[in-house]
Amino acid sequence: MAKPIVAIVGRPNVGKSTIFNRVVGERISIVEDVPGVTRDRIYSSGEWLNQEFNIIDTGGIDIGDEPFLAQIRHQAEIAIDEADVIIFMTSGREGVTSADEEVSKILYRSKKPVVLAVNKVDNPEMRESIYDFYALGFGDPIPISGSHGLGLGDLLDEVIKHFPEGIIDDYDDETIKFSLIGRPNVGKSSLVNALLGEERVIVSDIAGTTRDAIDTTYSKEGQEYVIIDTAGMRKKGKVYETTEKYSVLRALKAIERSDVVLVVLNAEEGIIEQDKKIAGYAHEAGRAVVIVVNKWDVIDKDEKTMKEFEGKIRDNFQFLDYAPITFLSAKTKKRTHTLLPMINLASENHAMRVQTNVLNDVVMDAVAMNPAPTDKGVRLRIYYVTQVAVKPPTFVVFVNDPELMHFSYERFLENRIRDAFGFEGTPIKLIARARK
Ligand code: GDP
Ligand code: GDP
Repeated sequence: MAKPIVAIVGRPNVGKSTIFNRVVGERISIVEDVPGVTRDRIYSSGEWLNQEFNIIDTGGIDIGDEPFLAQIRHQAEIAIDEADVIIFMTSGREGVTSADEEVSKILYRSKKPVVLAVNKVDNPEMRESIYDFYALGFGDPIPISGSHGLGLGDLLDEVIKHFPEGIIDDYDDETIKFSLIGRPNVGKSSLVNALLGEERVIVSDIAGTTRDAIDTTYSKEGQEYVIIDTAGMRKKGKVYETTEKYSVLRALKAIERSDVVLVVLNAEEGIIEQDKKIAGYAHEAGRAVVIVVNKWDVIDKDEKTMKEFEGKIRDNFQFLDYAPITFLSAKTKKRTHTLLPMINLASENHAMRVQTNVLNDVVMDAVAMNPAPTDKGVRLRIYYVTQVAVKPPTFVVFVNDPELMHFSYERFLENRIRDAFGFEGTPIKLIARARK
């Protein structure tokens, strides 16, 4: 089940990012602790009344040197293109401004539901400031206060009312869904063509049931595949499509719908910050990952080149130490045959279930060989481990006190589990829980 997408639009300083952060809440992010990865979220997930959704702060998408009004117009267009429900945010302190009217004009043209929020209504006396906002033509304005956390529930009540029913990815569970993620020009489209061209494939561009996504389906040796959002690779010629933030947004949406994410790098250009950020998101989202180094044909190689490049990748993507790496050329098709077997392997491991008794033998042996260090005189005790989920494989470890499960020991257990069962290509999750 794909999650509905909510976008917040509005002129600068009305409080979009304040509300975004409130809705998203504090999520612990491993990737953001990695040095050099900047904290600038514009896309995350939220939940209200058991409804999960994704939320975009369009204010975080800056469109180069465009003038002020053009910027907010583009942001509104992005919201219309990408979201199921739009929160149009204004401020009760400043009242209706001409920039608000500008945003309204763009939103009128869309068929997407719009919920009008008037922020900075910090106390009951200010409530009458909302009446002017009826003039914008989006029905009842909802007063909120981001800094005081008021009215947020009313706002979200209204938002979830407009969620479309049954946004379903209607591919069956056996179908492997994958996406190719990477900067412009790394060769994603060429790679898709190489994959499709070398097989006798049934290619059909089907307009996915989800919004604008165009997926490509094909099958090989009885296995069905869907390449998620191949449309995102084709440019439609909109101004904002070339901006970094927008392409990140597109990538995050594709990752969300995938089982396996191919992180495509350009051998010529090496690794940049944005590659790490997106790969980090795939990891956090619990997707299987394969690292693809494309354009290997243009590199002057000797017998050490591949090892060196691999070393660089491992240094840069430490959190992806489980991801297999392949070096290939979409242009000459050299080694492109390595790709599908890697996707299959990653996907299989992503969905793997291990036997509880074998799992416990492995973990108890590991603990016996290397007991957890004591913390203030108390030692972590592990009683029992069980796998509670797949995609990604998730294990609950029952312990005396979850606080005693430190990162390094968790890492040790994860490595022992990997040694025993493989799990190449997929993240695995360990959750420590107190035994009742
Ligand atoms: P954005 O540009 O729309 O993302 O706006 P920000 O979230 O960055 O907020 C702009 C300013 O308004 C910041 O100084 C916030 O602290 C302030 N702000 C946000 N929400 C409220 C609110 O509910 N009441 C008041 N008084 N200030 C707020
Ligand atoms: P995308 O933007 O990531 O989809 O990249 P494209 O598939 O459009 O490729 C960008 C450019 O790189 C095109 O000119 C391709 O011909 C070229 N290209 C793609 N793959 C390779 C490769 O393996 N080797 C070389 N030398 N060029 C490639």
